[in-house]
Amino acid sequence: GVMPEAYGGSEALATLHRVFGYEAFRGEQEAIIEHVVAGGDAVVLMPTGGGKSLCYQIPALVRPGTGVVVSPLIALMQDQVDALRALGVRAGFVNSTQDFDERRVVEAEFLAGELDLLYLAPERLRLESTLDLLSRGKISLFAIDEAHCVSQWGHDFRPDYLALSLLGERWPDVPRIALTATATHATHQEITQRLNIPAARHFVASFDRPNIQYRIVPKADPKKQLLSFLREEHAGDAGIVYCLSRNSVEKTAEFLTRNGVEAVPYHAGLDAGTRAAHQSRFLREDGLVVVATIAFGMGIDKPDVRFVAHLDLPKSVEGYYQETGRAGRDGLPSTAWMAYGLNDVIQQRKLIQSGEGDEAFRRRSQGHLDAMLALCETVHCRRGQLLAYFGQDAEAGACGNCDTCLVPPDTWDGTIAAQKVLSTVWRLDRERRQKFGAVQIVDILLGRRTAKVIQFDHDQLSVFGIGEELTEGEWRGVVRQLLAQGLLAVEGEYGTLVLTEASGEVLGRKREVPLRKEPKKPAASRSSSGT
Ligand code: ADP
Ligand code: ZN
Repeated sequence: GVMPEAYGGSEALATLHRVFGYEAFRGEQEAIIEHVVAGGDAVVLMPTGGGKSLCYQIPALVRPGTGVVVSPLIALMQDQVDALRALGVRAGFVNSTQDFDERRVVEAEFLAGELDLLYLAPERLRLESTLDLLSRGKISLFAIDEAHCVSQWGHDFRPDYLALSLLGERWPDVPRIALTATATHATHQEITQRLNIPAARHFVASFDRPNIQYRIVPKADPKKQLLSFLREEHAGDAGIVYCLSRNSVEKTAEFLTRNGVEAVPYHAGLDAGTRAAHQSRFLREDGLVVVATIAFGMGIDKPDVRFVAHLDLPKSVEGYYQETGRAGRDGLPSTAWMAYGLNDVIQQRKLIQSGEGDEAFRRRSQGHLDAMLALCETVHCRRGQLLAYFGQDAEAGACGNCDTCLVPPDTWDGTIAAQKVLSTVWRLDRERRQKFGAVQIVDILLGRRTAKVIQFDHDQLSVFGIGEELTEGEWRGVVRQLLAQGLLAVEGEYGTLVLTEASGEVLGRKREVPLRKEPKKPAASRSSSGT
């Protein structure tokens, strides 16, 4: 190997060269590593792909003793440890996937001082036996990965993380470094508080990913839209397509393959062997597309993912950012593309209502979804909105590399259209016999005598046929935006539309409703190209 002295740098830099084979530190890595090597606590906020691992791996190698890494990603521990061992780092893990003997070997290595890094699942640290083991060895640092899991307001809350506050009491002299890619200002504060590291220095990297182009298109025929997007802009490129359900994962993968785009499915319903095979093909091959549920991607390190496509709406901006962040880790131009429509809004709202959890949890989920919807419906720069969500101001206005910057959307005064929708909902609600969803509302507005309209005498309503100035797609867009703005709500398992308190302001003409104009044709459809 290379002699550290040859570089004349610090031990940390020498380790970067010698063990990891990298030329230089990135961004704040050097400052973070120096701080932790010197024994300081740190909270590190760095976007996915930013290079968080080295921030604790190098200090663990430089400081005497074993670096204990707490990570919830049990499924990845084996891979992480294998990768480190391949570099000559003495790493091991302890989690529930091991049998007694495997665990004993790792524990013995730890006690003998033969480990540089020991990965643990958080639930391990609730066991007195684990704490006892740790106090019999020498620990160089504690790294708490995915530290946002300690936040009860976040989408990844893990109760086991709360127990991590005791690390400081038991090991007051061991530095702790908490790392996350997901943090609003509030989460950030919560990490410091709940992990009890008040003296930690905070390192906050920019969340901007300038090489990723953000685009959100109205959903019409999502699989076809996706296919056109891939053919026109990403032929032969590797990428990830996210779908909500296993069924749509399967169908979309089949559809793409049938149409000449090589794609494999990935979801928790597939057996472990198939999942592993598809994942390793994705990592190894050029230009493979993985169609997946969100189960895919955590910790996946493929630098040349050229696009991430969402066929369904993510539940939160954090999720969206993390998933899209898997594109373009190599810094080259990449696309985050999403198709989004009325059914997404209804489906997500229903999921929240019928889901588990108490009222507070539902309100929180609702808040997460609202922020995501606001990002979808914004007429301003998407990147600016995304960064603002993470508490970071975008540099000087518009980014020039998102759809709303490239083609600024028109707005129109949707007040009258909104009143028409809301008064139709109000009239149907007043009947109280049966509740109706968006399809019935739009049919009534368009004056369509469908079987269901006739059955309920809805052609007799005064609102019947008052909306012929807009198309069906445009009305669905109006309903979607009203839902996104909180001027309509969804109730029950059938997605019944109901009024909200704010609806009254619109019906009472106390409030105007600016709406985003829907492009006549979906931006990415074939028929709209070449014009
Ligand atoms: P994160 O955990 O923040 O998502 P990782 O620690 O997995 O990111 O790092 C992302 C990728 O960047 C990895 O392939 C890693 O090896 C690489 N990387 C990290 N730091 C450097 C560096 N200083 N020079 C070159 N590559 C780096
Ligand atoms: Zn922009």
